[in-house]
Amino acid sequence: MKKKKSSTSSKKKIKAKMTQAPQGSILINRAKCTKCDSIIESKSVHDFVECKCGRIFVDGGLTYQRFGFKEISDLLIWNCATNDFEKVTNN
Ligand SMILES: [Zn+2]
Repeated sequence: MKKKKSSTSSKKKIKAKMTQAPQGSILINRAKCTKCDSIIESKSVHDFVECKCGRIFVDGGLTYQRFGFKEISDLLIWNCATNDFEKVTNN
């Protein structure tokens, strides 16, 4: 793993979380923004996708799942097991 950056000088204050999935376990890297109702999906490793209002993003395709949000309540992540979006817990 790369070392964590303390803070990025991004123009937007978006927090990023990244989950390293066990190989082959990500089937759909998809998220939904609760603010603008966009559904976004990252389909390949460098496929960085932002929602319409820019509050959330997903990245990493099927290799890893990286997502960001301005507020954690903005973000819903697709759960392949339940076939539904679910809230992200901030841990
Ligand atoms: Zn949005």
